[in-house]
Amino acid sequence: MKYNELDLYYQFINNAVQGVDTMKNELETSNIKEKFHQFGYKYTEQRRLILNVLLENPDLHLSSEDIYEYFKMKKIDISQSTVYRTLIVLEKMKIVRKVNLDDGFTRYELFSPDEDHAHHHLICTECGSITDIKNDLLEDLERQILDDYDFEIKDHCLKFFGLCKKCRNQK
Ligand SMILES: [Zn+2]
Ligand SMILES: [Zn+2]
Ligand SMILES: [Zn+2]
Repeated sequence: MKYNELDLYYQFINNAVQGVDTMKNELETSNIKEKFHQFGYKYTEQRRLILNVLLENPDLHLSSEDIYEYFKMKKIDISQSTVYRTLIVLEKMKIVRKVNLDDGFTRYELFSPDEDHAHHHLICTECGSITDIKNDLLEDLERQILDDYDFEIKDHCLKFFGLCKKCRNQK
């Protein structure tokens, strides 16, 4: 885990301790099982568990290291390379997408089908917290670029660095 002190980290640990593989996302998962088959992959128990960690922590941008640590904490025997390879499979299936938050880790988040453009991230330089901006907010800019440069924007990757409310209040 890179962001040592942050709340989300504790939330993550909490989830781990409380035991979250109660399949509260049963519905998504049964669709996902079919999707695995469509892509020619097996829906193994290990893959189910890895995917479940992602489903249970939709606001976190977990790295394969984080997920591996999580299983270690829960004493579930899944190797680091299984986690790593499963994330690549999930990415190919467009279930997760890679996020680069400039902290030296490859992080993943759930791919939401209603988002055809990646959402932006607010990164606090003090505590490392990450907030998703759910609105694109760039429609005007994208239209203008199409007009001015005859270039159609398909996606973008935008990070904002600054101070979150909590850190500003501590100053
Ligand atoms: Zn956009
Ligand atoms: Zn902060
Ligand atoms: Zn995000």
